[in-house]
Amino acid sequence: MSADKHQATAALVLFSGGQDSTVCLAWALDRFSRVETVGFDYGQRHRVELACRQKLREELAKRFPKWRARLGEDNIIELPELGRISDTALTREAAIELQENGLPNTFVPGRNLLFFTYAAALAYRRDLMILVGGMCETDFSGYPDCRDETLQSLARTLRLGTEKEFSIETPLMHLTKAQTWQLAQRLGGDSLSELIVEHTHSCYLGERGTRHEWGYGCGGCPACELRARGFWEWRGEQASAAAV
Ligand code: ZN
Repeated sequence: MSADKHQATAALVLFSGGQDSTVCLAWALDRFSRVETVGFDYGQRHRVELACRQKLREELAKRFPKWRARLGEDNIIELPELGRISDTALTREAAIELQENGLPNTFVPGRNLLFFTYAAALAYRRDLMILVGGMCETDFSGYPDCRDETLQSLARTLRLGTEKEFSIETPLMHLTKAQTWQLAQRLGGDSLSELIVEHTHSCYLGERGTRHEWGYGCGGCPACELRARGFWEWRGEQASAAAV
């Protein structure tokens, strides 16, 4: 697609307030002329993410004037039934662990399928044909609804089901966590990296009491471990590049 075509397009970003979706929002603001955001409230334990969203939008607009002009409305869709029926460690008080099927019990079955379908219903009305999400195949989790094949199949279903040319973009799909930090640095330099450390939330337990170099969190849950590991790997690469 040509750069001009990109400029003339409008996107809806699935924006949770976490690290990945914030990098996706920056990625979309960098290349599309109009970008709206949508968040889902499904009773997740780490709902503190949702509280981070407004602050992140404000800071992105304040620090990046070019992006401010492109950043459109924010939307919240409430899906309390998803939390009620899925019964996972993300929505009730339980230890996060691997289940017999090899998936962590943080897996909310079909969550991303629902999210994109609701997002498409909203985007249809608002004429936003590009849906953007931070799903990633290289994640530790192996959630089947994060796979590229799943999401591209869903995009096809959405096109068939709406007769609209929806596409699903997942810029982080094949990146490691360290490469996600790199992408943020490339898009918005130190200012964006700092904003991500300070204002995004990843911890599954919703903890924001302790500030580590990589951001806030309990430091022990899988999401914190993943975030910290990626951060230090990225920092290590930066240091060795600077030493050359
Ligand atoms: Zn944590």
